[in-house]
Amino acid sequence: MAKLNSALGPLDTADMGFTLTHEHISGSSAGFQLTYPEIVNTETVLELAVQDLTRAHQHGVTTIIDCSTYDIGRDVRLIEAVSRRSGIQVVCATGSHLYVPQTFYESMFPWMKPMPVDDVAALWIREVEEGIEGTGIKAGVIKIATNDPIRPAEEHMLRAGARTHLRTGVPITTHTPILSRVGEEQVRILLEEGVDMSHVYIGHVNSTLDRDYHLRLIDKGVWLGMDHFSPSGPPGTPDWEERSAFIKGLIDEGYQDRIMMSHDWNFGRHSGHCQLASAVSRDDHPDAFLWITNGVLPRLRELGADESAITSMMVDNPRRFFGGN
Ligand SMILES: [Zn+2]
Repeated sequence: MAKLNSALGPLDTADMGFTLTHEHISGSSAGFQLTYPEIVNTETVLELAVQDLTRAHQHGVTTIIDCSTYDIGRDVRLIEAVSRRSGIQVVCATGSHLYVPQTFYESMFPWMKPMPVDDVAALWIREVEEGIEGTGIKAGVIKIATNDPIRPAEEHMLRAGARTHLRTGVPITTHTPILSRVGEEQVRILLEEGVDMSHVYIGHVNSTLDRDYHLRLIDKGVWLGMDHFSPSGPPGTPDWEERSAFIKGLIDEGYQDRIMMSHDWNFGRHSGHCQLASAVSRDDHPDAFLWITNGVLPRLRELGADESAITSMMVDNPRRFFGGN
């Protein structure tokens, strides 16, 4: 029976249930919590997150993967409190987002050598094996983000993420920019490091509705993160109905066992002002964590998707990604 690390301790993959695979309880910047706590406003975010996630839990969401790394203000004590009070199981992330610290990789001064990949990996391995910031709360997923094209510092982080995975077995989840096809390049680098693609989830691919791109990724053996879902997406990107219809097309081709879904919701960059990657305001959409439940899944059913496909995407695939049967 496979186990993964959650904010409240070891979790059996069989108990993950309905899982949103890419969300954020809070978003900020590295060090802000300490330096500018009045901007981060942890108390407000805590209250709002408990409120919304309690409702999500009451409506069937049982687990979320919080893909916040330390450079986007990860706060594991906040995550732990939200999990305890809302009843939602939360998995915390190690790794890095797009703001690679200059201590890891200085790009301004070419004569400064990057920190060796293995030294970066050692820090992340500690977050998986011992815990984050001395809390004992262990990371359960490795998040890596890149631009398109991938910058040298980001490639360095991808390799560190790969080595963290090879040592710990914890799976890798990536960020790709909207409308990009950079997932294939991420795969190339991870393959070079010897990673088995069944442990890799390429994120945000449903902003790029290019069937050939998705099929090439499926062919590599990775999971597809259809994890940008909101009532209204960023300008110039497909709307949720187009994204839903695209997924139905893949289901019709038998690919429901490669897809996972989520919103990429994020509470507050400052003072409880909440927005999603899509710039949707929480005031307009207080049930954003339930948009898949209330909007996307009913639409997929309307289009003819059966319950077994929905169970695959929302329950079985997340469990298998984390090593369950
Ligand atoms: Zn995200």
